[in-house]
Amino acid sequence: MSIPTINIDMDKKCPQCGHKGVCGNGLCMECGMKKYERKRAMKVGDKTIKTCIDIIQSMLWEKQIDMDRAYIKAEGPVSVDLKLKISPGDGVNEVEGKISFVVEKSTGEVDKIYVDENQMTLFENEKEEAAA
Ligand SMILES: [Zn+2]
Repeated sequence: MSIPTINIDMDKKCPQCGHKGVCGNGLCMECGMKKYERKRAMKVGDKTIKTCIDIIQSMLWEKQIDMDRAYIKAEGPVSVDLKLKISPGDGVNEVEGKISFVVEKSTGEVDKIYVDENQMTLFENEKEEAAA
Protein backbone atom coordinates (compact mmCIF):
# COMPACT_ATOMS: atom_id res chain seq x y z
CA MET A 1 0.00 0.00 0.00
CA SER A 2 1.21 3.47 -0.86
CA ILE A 3 1.39 6.24 1.71
CA PRO A 4 -1.07 9.05 0.95
CA THR A 5 0.81 12.27 0.27
CA ILE A 6 -0.31 15.87 -0.15
CA ASN A 7 1.76 18.14 -2.36
CA ILE A 8 1.63 21.84 -1.52
CA ASP A 9 2.83 24.42 -4.02
CA MET A 10 4.04 27.27 -1.78
CA ASP A 11 4.51 29.63 -4.76
CA LYS A 12 0.81 29.73 -5.61
CA LYS A 13 -1.95 31.60 -3.74
CA CYS A 14 -5.37 30.14 -2.95
CA PRO A 15 -7.94 31.73 -5.31
CA GLN A 16 -10.56 31.72 -2.54
CA CYS A 17 -8.77 33.18 0.48
CA GLY A 18 -5.46 34.40 -0.91
CA HIS A 19 -3.28 32.38 1.49
CA LYS A 20 0.00 31.02 0.17
CA GLY A 21 0.26 27.30 -0.43
CA VAL A 22 -2.04 25.45 -2.79
CA CYS A 23 -2.80 21.71 -2.93
CA GLY A 24 -3.48 19.58 -5.98
CA ASN A 25 -7.13 20.70 -6.11
CA GLY A 26 -6.02 24.32 -6.61
CA LEU A 27 -7.05 25.43 -3.10
CA CYS A 28 -5.24 25.87 0.22
CA MET A 29 -5.62 23.17 2.90
CA GLU A 30 -8.34 25.10 4.76
CA CYS A 31 -10.45 25.95 1.69
CA GLY A 32 -9.94 22.41 0.39
CA MET A 33 -11.30 20.97 3.65
CA LYS A 34 -14.28 23.35 3.59
CA LYS A 35 -15.03 22.27 0.01
CA TYR A 36 -14.72 18.60 1.04
CA GLU A 37 -17.11 19.12 3.99
CA ARG A 38 -19.65 20.88 1.74
CA LYS A 39 -19.43 18.05 -0.80
CA ARG A 40 -19.81 15.46 1.96
CA ALA A 41 -23.01 17.19 3.10
CA MET A 42 -24.32 17.13 -0.48
CA LYS A 43 -26.35 13.97 -0.72
CA VAL A 44 -29.77 13.09 -2.03
CA GLY A 45 -30.64 10.66 0.72
CA ASP A 46 -33.84 9.27 2.20
CA LYS A 47 -34.63 12.51 4.10
CA THR A 48 -34.35 14.59 0.91
CA ILE A 49 -36.57 12.15 -1.04
CA LYS A 50 -39.11 12.18 1.80
CA THR A 51 -39.10 16.00 1.71
CA CYS A 52 -39.58 15.93 -2.09
CA ILE A 53 -42.60 13.61 -1.70
CA ASP A 54 -44.05 15.80 1.08
CA ILE A 55 -43.66 18.95 -1.04
CA ILE A 56 -45.33 17.36 -4.09
CA GLN A 57 -48.12 15.96 -1.94
CA SER A 58 -48.84 19.27 -0.20
CA MET A 59 -48.72 21.17 -3.52
CA LEU A 60 -51.26 18.75 -5.04
CA TRP A 61 -53.58 19.03 -2.01
CA GLU A 62 -53.18 22.81 -2.03
CA LYS A 63 -54.15 23.07 -5.71
CA GLN A 64 -56.81 20.35 -5.65
CA ILE A 65 -59.83 22.70 -5.88
CA ASP A 66 -58.26 24.74 -8.71
CA MET A 67 -57.26 21.59 -10.59
CA ASP A 68 -60.72 20.11 -10.10
CA ARG A 69 -62.39 23.27 -11.48
CA ALA A 70 -60.02 23.35 -14.45
CA TYR A 71 -60.60 19.66 -15.13
CA ILE A 72 -64.41 20.04 -15.14
CA LYS A 73 -64.21 23.19 -17.32
CA ALA A 74 -61.74 21.64 -19.76
CA GLU A 75 -63.89 18.68 -20.75
CA GLY A 76 -60.54 17.21 -21.66
CA PRO A 77 -57.10 16.61 -20.29
CA VAL A 78 -55.35 18.82 -17.77
CA SER A 79 -51.56 18.64 -17.81
CA VAL A 80 -49.92 18.97 -14.41
CA ASP A 81 -46.25 19.94 -14.29
CA LEU A 82 -44.38 19.23 -11.10
CA LYS A 83 -40.86 20.50 -10.67
CA LEU A 84 -38.40 20.00 -7.84
CA LYS A 85 -35.12 21.79 -7.31
CA ILE A 86 -32.58 20.45 -4.83
CA SER A 87 -29.83 22.93 -3.96
CA PRO A 88 -26.91 22.64 -1.56
CA GLY A 89 -27.26 24.89 1.46
CA ASP A 90 -24.90 25.22 4.45
CA GLY A 91 -24.73 21.53 5.34
CA VAL A 92 -28.37 21.01 4.38
CA ASN A 93 -30.33 20.49 1.19
CA GLU A 94 -32.77 23.13 0.09
CA VAL A 95 -35.78 21.62 -1.69
CA GLU A 96 -37.98 23.87 -3.79
CA GLY A 97 -41.21 22.72 -5.42
CA LYS A 98 -43.23 24.20 -8.25
CA ILE A 99 -46.63 23.14 -9.57
CA SER A 100 -48.46 24.38 -12.63
CA PHE A 101 -51.28 23.02 -14.70
CA VAL A 102 -52.55 23.75 -18.17
CA VAL A 103 -55.93 22.94 -19.60
CA GLU A 104 -55.51 21.32 -22.98
CA LYS A 105 -58.09 22.57 -25.46
CA SER A 106 -60.05 19.70 -26.90
CA THR A 107 -60.39 20.15 -30.66
CA GLY A 108 -61.89 16.73 -31.18
CA GLU A 109 -58.80 15.68 -33.10
CA VAL A 110 -56.01 13.68 -31.64
CA ASP A 111 -52.58 13.51 -33.20
CA LYS A 112 -51.08 10.13 -32.74
CA ILE A 113 -47.97 9.00 -34.53
CA TYR A 114 -46.87 5.43 -34.22
CA VAL A 115 -43.15 4.87 -34.40
CA ASP A 116 -41.81 1.45 -35.22
CA GLU A 117 -38.12 1.48 -34.42
CA ASN A 118 -37.56 -1.62 -36.56
CA GLN A 119 -39.00 0.14 -39.60
CA MET A 120 -35.96 2.44 -39.64
CA THR A 121 -33.88 -0.55 -40.68
CA LEU A 122 -35.85 -0.71 -43.92
CA PHE A 123 -34.98 2.91 -44.73
CA GLU A 124 -31.35 2.27 -43.90
CA ASN A 125 -31.37 -0.68 -46.34
CA GLU A 126 -32.92 1.54 -49.00
CA LYS A 127 -30.16 4.08 -48.44
CA GLU A 128 -27.51 1.38 -48.74
CA GLU A 129 -29.14 0.07 -51.94
CA ALA A 130 -29.30 3.59 -53.39
CA ALA A 131 -25.64 4.16 -52.59
CA ALA A 132 -24.56 0.83 -54.14
ZN1 LIG B 1 -7.89 29.15 0.82
